[in-house]
Amino acid sequence: MPDDDLLALALVRLDEAARHLSIDPDVIEKLKYPRETTKARLMIRMDDGSRKSFMAWRCRYDDTRGPTKGGIRFHPQANGEEAEALAFWMTFKCAVMNLPYGGGKGAVRVDPRSLSRAELERLSRAYIQAFARILGPDRDIPAPDVYTNSMIMGWMADEYGQIVGESVPAVITGKPLALGGSLGRDDATARGGYYLVRHLAADAGLGAPMRVAIQGFGNAGRHIARLLAADGHRIVAVSDSEGAVFAHGGLDLERLEAAKNAGRSVLSTADGDRHHACSAEDLIATDCDLLVPAALENMIHGRNAASVQARVILELANGPVTPEADGILARNGVVVLPDILANGGGVTVSYFEWVQNRQGYYWTLEEVHERLRTIMEREGRAIWTTSKEAGITVRTGAYVHALRRLAAAIEAHGTQQFFAAG
Ligand code: GLU
Repeated sequence: MPDDDLLALALVRLDEAARHLSIDPDVIEKLKYPRETTKARLMIRMDDGSRKSFMAWRCRYDDTRGPTKGGIRFHPQANGEEAEALAFWMTFKCAVMNLPYGGGKGAVRVDPRSLSRAELERLSRAYIQAFARILGPDRDIPAPDVYTNSMIMGWMADEYGQIVGESVPAVITGKPLALGGSLGRDDATARGGYYLVRHLAADAGLGAPMRVAIQGFGNAGRHIARLLAADGHRIVAVSDSEGAVFAHGGLDLERLEAAKNAGRSVLSTADGDRHHACSAEDLIATDCDLLVPAALENMIHGRNAASVQARVILELANGPVTPEADGILARNGVVVLPDILANGGGVTVSYFEWVQNRQGYYWTLEEVHERLRTIMEREGRAIWTTSKEAGITVRTGAYVHALRRLAAAIEAHGTQQFFAAG
């Protein structure tokens, strides 16, 4: 199976989990296909007066457990199949975290770095104009994803409000605080992963201090570096789309942050003294305890999985490990804390934001952190126990855990058995 057939790769995990549960075949049939994928061509005026168009998608994969939920990514390689695979993962992620949502995802095929701020605003508003009919706080609720941020969510929420004629903050999460965002949403993906790894460290054979390698230094990668370093762990390697740096004694995070804030690659901090340059591929094979993929899909695959030296992989990215790599890692005793659990902190705090918007009552940062920690630990522990008892990987355990909840919701509408007996 080619590595780029993302939905087919994602469905391998569904089949695997179904083998460990006795569920109605109706359930699998329902979860095998996206419910609806809408495609649109967004046409915007560029700063020089010309018009340019961009392809865009929104997939609502399954809404049995509630309105569909999931981010919108802006990426030059974005496509409809990727949006469907990502929406499939959101369906399972929301079930893993027990949030009252189904799964969705959106995408625009664009390199956002090639647009001016005004062009980016027009594109963000055009996305909402194209998809407003399928969005809504009880229907489909977007959020940030790769290369989108709170400012973009603010523009989008505003555009939606203008279309429907009233302010509807709960239609989008990850908004700026001043527009109804939640405290703690900015670092929620990383923080959720951090709480999870801290809670399961001893079970997964991790001691302290840990040596950590992080692939991707965007929102999730930067925040997890900061959280782990604050606990005394050593960040020994990080990469971005241009390259990687390592330091056996630990990287200087302030220097890395300063480079990123100035729009430079982490590679620009290499000085041949403390920070050494290496390739992104080398980063996967770094001698470390914890490897954190925090970039894009399919980064650890059949050709490089055997080089992983880490004891544990924390998947802050969506879909960073292919099914083929899963098998190699399991044989080598590497524990993978899977995306649908490990990066579930982002959508969990999105859920908190939606709840606060609907109540019109806002929580303190401590309340957000405490509620997030409780959920990460509760679901993480349940999945860990399921995996150990059944002798399956944590990933399959997470799918089993989610599938039980999805099956209960699908079966509550009636199954073939129920209708045939009537
Ligand atoms: N894009 C994030 C994810 O993949 C967050 C989604 C959300 O908050 O709805 O989980």
